[in-house]
Amino acid sequence: MQGKIYLVATPIGNLEDITLRAIRILKEVDIIVAEDTRQTLKLLNHFEISKQMISYHRHSSEEKKKEIIEKVKEGKNIALVSDAGTPVISDPGEEIVQTALEKQIEVIPIPGPCALIAALITSGIDAKEFLFLGFLPLNKKIRKEKLNIIKDSKQTTILYEAPHKLTQTLEDLQEITNSRKIVLAREITKIHEEYITGTAKELVEKIKEPKGEFVIVIEKNNEQEENIFENMSLDEHYKYYENLRI
Ligand code: SAM
Repeated sequence: MQGKIYLVATPIGNLEDITLRAIRILKEVDIIVAEDTRQTLKLLNHFEISKQMISYHRHSSEEKKKEIIEKVKEGKNIALVSDAGTPVISDPGEEIVQTALEKQIEVIPIPGPCALIAALITSGIDAKEFLFLGFLPLNKKIRKEKLNIIKDSKQTTILYEAPHKLTQTLEDLQEITNSRKIVLAREITKIHEEYITGTAKELVEKIKEPKGEFVIVIEKNNEQEENIFENMSLDEHYKYYENLRI
């Protein structure tokens, strides 16, 4: 009988955020497939788990993927983890999931921490609908396309960003977001955790030397919405807000 693949979310800072189920699965599986085995070893040591590990990262070969899938087909149960948070979300694992599903291998999520969700729920920005764009690409053309999407977005947008690229990204956002509110969720669940709110311009002025990990939560573009109200009757106004309710 073939084994299963468990996608196990791990803490994004505070180790207390691991779930009881995640600990049990990490203990029970035959092999842990990790983005960086040294990083995962720290987690395993903390929870006194000793387990065979295989590394699988964004530069891993097709062969490596096949080797992992082969082990599952032989009957091994595998837990896939990334360095932090939920695997597959801006992290490796997607190709393994796709191949596993093609081969009728069962893929089971073990939900837990995810930086984008933690940032969104704490931001105070509309969480009913949102668009997650991961890291903005460096390629100028594709970056501009993504920035245009953010510019017009009628949904809250969430981005991941590395500290050394944060200022450039905020400067780019400054050109397209005007007075829209932005929340920077920094070092979530860690010692220097903070949530900094402002327009892109204010944030560029406030944060001179970005340090740590950041999630950027951007308020939706309200411009057109403000305009449509001008032509609405009182009744239409009422219906509009009724429809927004969940
Ligand atoms: N899979 C992860 C998840 O579930 O959130 C995300 C991995 S992605 C490679 C790493 C990025 O996530 C960081 O550059 C940062 O934007 C965000 N991130 C991860 N941990 C964070 C934290 N503790 N505080 C703020 N942002 C964090």
